[in-house]
Amino acid sequence: METTNQQSIIKKKNVVIAGPCSAESEEQLITTATELAQYGKVDVLRAGIWKPRTNPGGFEGIGTKGLPWLLKAKQLTGLKTAVEVATPKHVEDALSFEVDVLWIGARTAVNPFSVQQIADALKGTKQTVLIKNPINPDLKLWMGAVERIATAGIDDIGLIHRGFSSYGNTEYRNVPLWQIPIEMKRLLPDLPVICDPSHICGNRTKLHAVAQKSVDLDFDGLIIESHYNPEIALTDKSQQVTPANLASLLGKLIYKRQDSDDAAFLQQLENLREQINHLDEELLTVIGNRMAIAREIGEIKQRNSVTVLQSNRYNEILNRVIQKGEENGLSERFVKTYIEAIHIESIRIQNEHQNRLSQQSEA
Ligand code: PEP
Ligand code: MN
Repeated sequence: METTNQQSIIKKKNVVIAGPCSAESEEQLITTATELAQYGKVDVLRAGIWKPRTNPGGFEGIGTKGLPWLLKAKQLTGLKTAVEVATPKHVEDALSFEVDVLWIGARTAVNPFSVQQIADALKGTKQTVLIKNPINPDLKLWMGAVERIATAGIDDIGLIHRGFSSYGNTEYRNVPLWQIPIEMKRLLPDLPVICDPSHICGNRTKLHAVAQKSVDLDFDGLIIESHYNPEIALTDKSQQVTPANLASLLGKLIYKRQDSDDAAFLQQLENLREQINHLDEELLTVIGNRMAIAREIGEIKQRNSVTVLQSNRYNEILNRVIQKGEENGLSERFVKTYIEAIHIESIRIQNEHQNRLSQQSEA
């Protein structure tokens, strides 16, 4: 077993956390845990005990009654255990049943009051804590939650990337916005980042692709929901997989090396990277030239009392570049994001320039 720190299960490279969305009954939990343990690919058994549900009236978790089942599953299988905590009482109860890993859910991570209460309850313990990204794509809020837990004296902290809520997206239940966990990894390089394909996907179809992508991004582990019989699951039934299917999914993942010392490969990589650096510089020069022209346009618009934004023109640019992008093998989604960024900056520059001109003429 490759571990960097014997004490910390979440720092085991490619750690796998799996188990049902919710603990439902002793039989369900023990059966699922036993099957998961049989395949030898899972390190930690997860189970939601208290469930934050979007709508009231559904199954809101079995509550403290489920904690002895989790402890029994741990004793039977040797798997470590993980539960979600949202209040100080949850922390206290989970710790009294020897839960190894606590996680703060996405709906709790958005609320600094709740996170602080959990942090206060954790003071003086040596607990392992995973912090899910808040449901909204707010990197600072996620960082803030980490800081609150760290300030309480907890030093075994990891992150869970579970995607972000969005309105009307049908491809994912929660859009991954990979750039956010990538940025968290850059800012907090010592914290393991664990990907939660189950809550990103919301169904089973893309689980493998999302898991593989997190592996390719050198994320540190996976948390995947698994139920011995997903069809009868009380929560998140369409995204849970059987332990056998989970084992097969994990078996298909291709783990790559972080680096290689092969001389030919390194030389080739360096050449290509040099070309990339060169092109990046060219792109920035071209964008700078484009902004200079935008400034000039701002000036003549000002002189002729014409508004900075002209929607027709923007539509025309958008259609042109999408078409050009397609000819160059660039996706519509990328071209749109790119031109939006350029356009917003161009408007900002025009405004700034016009304000400067008006101040000069007033002076
Ligand atoms: C869960 O893990 O079952 C859960 C409720 O997740 P999230 O907080 O990511 O919605
Ligand atoms: Mn769930």
